[in-house]
Amino acid sequence: MNAYLEKVINDVRAKHGTEPEFVQTVEEVLSSLEPVIAKHPEYEKVDLLGRMVEPERMFTFRVVWCDDQGNWHTNRGWRCQFNGALGPYKGGLRFQKNVYEGIVKFLGFEQIFKNSLTGLPIGGGKGGSDFDPAGKSDAEVMRFCQSYMTALYRYIGPDVDVPAGDMGVGGREIGYLYGQYRRLKGVWENGVLTGKGQTYGGSVIRPEATGYGAVYYLTNVLKHEGDTIEGKTIAAAGFGNVTWGICKKAMQLGAKVITLSGPDGYVLDPEGVATEEKVDFLLTMRATDPMHVKPYADKFGVQFFPGEKPWGVKCDVVMPSAMQNDVKMEQAEKIAKCGAKYYIEVANMPTTNDALAFLREQKHMIVAPSKAVNAGGVGVSALEMAQNSERLVWTEDEVDAQLKKMMQNIHDNSAKAAEEYGLGYDLVAGGNIAGFLKVAQAMMEQGCF
Ligand code: GLU
Repeated sequence: MNAYLEKVINDVRAKHGTEPEFVQTVEEVLSSLEPVIAKHPEYEKVDLLGRMVEPERMFTFRVVWCDDQGNWHTNRGWRCQFNGALGPYKGGLRFQKNVYEGIVKFLGFEQIFKNSLTGLPIGGGKGGSDFDPAGKSDAEVMRFCQSYMTALYRYIGPDVDVPAGDMGVGGREIGYLYGQYRRLKGVWENGVLTGKGQTYGGSVIRPEATGYGAVYYLTNVLKHEGDTIEGKTIAAAGFGNVTWGICKKAMQLGAKVITLSGPDGYVLDPEGVATEEKVDFLLTMRATDPMHVKPYADKFGVQFFPGEKPWGVKCDVVMPSAMQNDVKMEQAEKIAKCGAKYYIEVANMPTTNDALAFLREQKHMIVAPSKAVNAGGVGVSALEMAQNSERLVWTEDEVDAQLKKMMQNIHDNSAKAAEEYGLGYDLVAGGNIAGFLKVAQAMMEQGCF
């Protein structure tokens, strides 16, 4: 590997030994940049990469809240404003027990390149808390969100930093967060958050956007291969927002999702999660118990595999859409033998680096990276920001058409970047390169800081 890249990666390893997810994403992105660094010696001269792996700023805050029994709790909150070269920092908030600095930083780093790929003016950021939303009442969630926003509101704004949802943060949480922001600031600045309800400036299709975008991206890959989506079987994971959107769009386009998973195991539905009743049931399950997918098997009389993951099930397309590092070497080996030609990452960093390298080596497979595939979510968030600043509401057809076009551009620009650097149809490297180049150019043009 190029000596400069190696130095930056080694520095990150040395500084972030306790943040393995962040080290992992830096290794993954930077390893694609070898030909770019060779072509652009000016980047090394100003240590552009050393700058890019260091957040512009990141802060931690205390979030104190009171439960329904009158007991007080202290959680930790974070916001990482990683890179603002392309626009206001933009990225979700994750509320999950296992969140810590390393998770926020890894997600923030990925967000820089993902947001760049959308072609829209958004920088990269991410935030979250180690608050565990499981089993909390609406009132508890509201008090938590109000406390969270009280700590954060001074540091965000429509032209500064625009948080949104991620795991554990959906429309309900965004509503409470926005209500508190408005109360504290006394202004109607709804462009400060995205993923809002439609009564106060949320965009149509935002809840579906990540899943819809992922399926649109897939259709572009299939088109490149002279293939079509009709009749394809898809193994997906999770059953949250993203997977729900995948099921819906796949159903509309004549494909079907045959697996879902949860912390308790996975379900196999050979008929597909491909009726309105089934797709809607995912929403009910998520609202009542986000920890168990078994109720789907019970309701629709399909097989449930306790404690197992769906990887290895015979299908045409594999879409890991649950969480980071869900597919390790052991699962990748099964996936390589399951008959699927397409491995379309959806969740942020769902594959460990060794497993991803292994899958990319499989001659019969095409691998697409999550930071391109799932960019439709944040892309529609940027469309929400545009609607808010215009004080307009766009129709479903307008937003959907823009999302579709955006996903085609992301795919085509990734393929083109890979081609230009002599890498063939390598969507992983191409996505990293295309995302990187725009940020790099903006940083160079804006001078040294
Ligand atoms: N959390 C989502 C993501 O990973 C959405 C971020 C946003 O809409 O700002 O991209």
